[in-house]
Amino acid sequence: MSFQEAIWQTRRGYLKQCQPDIPVLFFNPNKLTGTAKIFHDHFPGLVTYAVKANPDPNVIKTLISCGITSFDVASPVEIDLIRNIAPNATLHYHNPVRSIAEIKHAVSKNIRCYSVDRIAELDKLLKYVPAGAEISVRLKLDLEGAAYDFGSKFGAKPGDCIALLERLKNSNYRTSMTFHPGTQCTDPKAWELYIKTCADIAKKAGCVLERLNVGGGFPSFRAKNKPDLMAFFETIGTAVANHFDNSIPKLVCEPGRSLSADGYSLATRVKALDKKTIFLNDGVYAGLTEFRDIGPVDRYQTIASDGTPKTGAKAKYTVFGPTCDSLDQLPEPLPLPSTIAEGDYILFENMGAYVKSITTQFNGYGNFKEIMISNTAP
Ligand SMILES: *Cc1c(COP(=O)(O)O)cnc(C)c1O
Repeated sequence: MSFQEAIWQTRRGYLKQCQPDIPVLFFNPNKLTGTAKIFHDHFPGLVTYAVKANPDPNVIKTLISCGITSFDVASPVEIDLIRNIAPNATLHYHNPVRSIAEIKHAVSKNIRCYSVDRIAELDKLLKYVPAGAEISVRLKLDLEGAAYDFGSKFGAKPGDCIALLERLKNSNYRTSMTFHPGTQCTDPKAWELYIKTCADIAKKAGCVLERLNVGGGFPSFRAKNKPDLMAFFETIGTAVANHFDNSIPKLVCEPGRSLSADGYSLATRVKALDKKTIFLNDGVYAGLTEFRDIGPVDRYQTIASDGTPKTGAKAKYTVFGPTCDSLDQLPEPLPLPSTIAEGDYILFENMGAYVKSITTQFNGYGNFKEIMISNTAP
């Protein structure tokens, strides 16, 4: 999307004037820049961006303009995407399971940082990645606090991490550790426990870690209260200083959601209304895909087709998406103004993460109008 159209000041102004009948993704670079600056200026280490959250070139370029020039990539397509936009960017290939062809592709694109969570995959890396590269052992713990559990797929248990580190210790590779506490993790203590455990593991393995990558998982502003990212950074900085005696590893993080989410909002339109059931022009196969897995964002407003917000008493509505599949329904009824009518818009905030990247074209839906917004007001 190249945003050849005019840049609009406000979202309501656009909705009123253009009456879009397909869902609209509003991109607000000022909001993206705001979050990027918080990470760039205050995270006590290197900030890399997890591309899968939103691979839009406008997002990548905006982050680069904020000084975020390192990226966490997970596939050859993501590698090539970033190499095309920023040939000299630092890339971390932190999908811990890769085919040999994928490893060879990464090596040919000059990637020098990899993660690993099992011996067979480490064998592959040691065989195909030139010495001197960084290999980060990925830890998993059974922890709550995230919107859903990442540990069920990737990561090694502490004992297995020790075995991996022992293998790496006397190799010609730079040795680091990494973890991911799970996406939209709202409890900073999760990081503290991970960091403490990494320190214990490194000590037991007799290994000095060059870096510690504390993952993504940082929360975005989905619920009523804005997460205090500074509190997370402080907990992380303190935990590393407290738990790693003399040899404190350099810190890296790789946020996806938290960096990208607030840069976008999504306007969906009421196509039809039947008592307390509404049909929207977007659903779980497209822009609302995450609502099924981690619940709706709490930050949304209803806007009449003349651009005015609808307030007043709310009632709960069953919400269906536009496809002919009965699964295309929000998991729970959504509180909406009881004056809601056909043609109204529901404007969801915080839609920059995992929307563009997961949306399908099922049943001919899933196309968005993309509009650039310059103002941070509604
Ligand atoms: C998905 C992913 C991230 C980003 O996670 P968020 O929860 O979006 O911050 C970071 N690192 C790795 C290895 C990932 O797979």
